[in-house]
Amino acid sequence: MDRSAHLLSEHGLKNTPVRRKVLSFMEERKHAVSHAELEGAFNGDADRVTLYRALNTLEEKGIVHKVLGRDGIARYALCQDDCTVHRHDDQHLHFHCNTCMNVFCLAVDDYPEVNLPAGFMLSKIQLSAEGICDNCK
Ligand SMILES: [Zn+2]
Ligand SMILES: [Zn+2]
Ligand SMILES: [Zn+2]
Repeated sequence: MDRSAHLLSEHGLKNTPVRRKVLSFMEERKHAVSHAELEGAFNGDADRVTLYRALNTLEEKGIVHKVLGRDGIARYALCQDDCTVHRHDDQHLHFHCNTCMNVFCLAVDDYPEVNLPAGFMLSKIQLSAEGICDNCK
């Protein structure tokens, strides 16, 4: 079983060709992928609605997460292992390239801890950075 098939069965999802292909496309990319990129990859093999639905399901189940690019376009990337149906727990940095506008999920050694004033409750911290990616430099 390849990784995509494994991810689907692990999360109790039916192994459909569209879901499989979405996941393997993301695995092959270093950056988070947009709808347009996915549509291009499918090249008419799946209509927009099917693609959107597959992405929503994958996001709901904690398999992929959504990140907005600085251009306002939503992109999707595979989650780390600790995301669940109820909670996305993607503790990594989102690096935004100012040239190609791609977003990269990068691991961070020490994730910051914050001390909040009394009465505040933390649900998640999002780290983001801007710069130039290795492709554009
Ligand atoms: Zn996640
Ligand atoms: Zn770039
Ligand atoms: Zn990410």
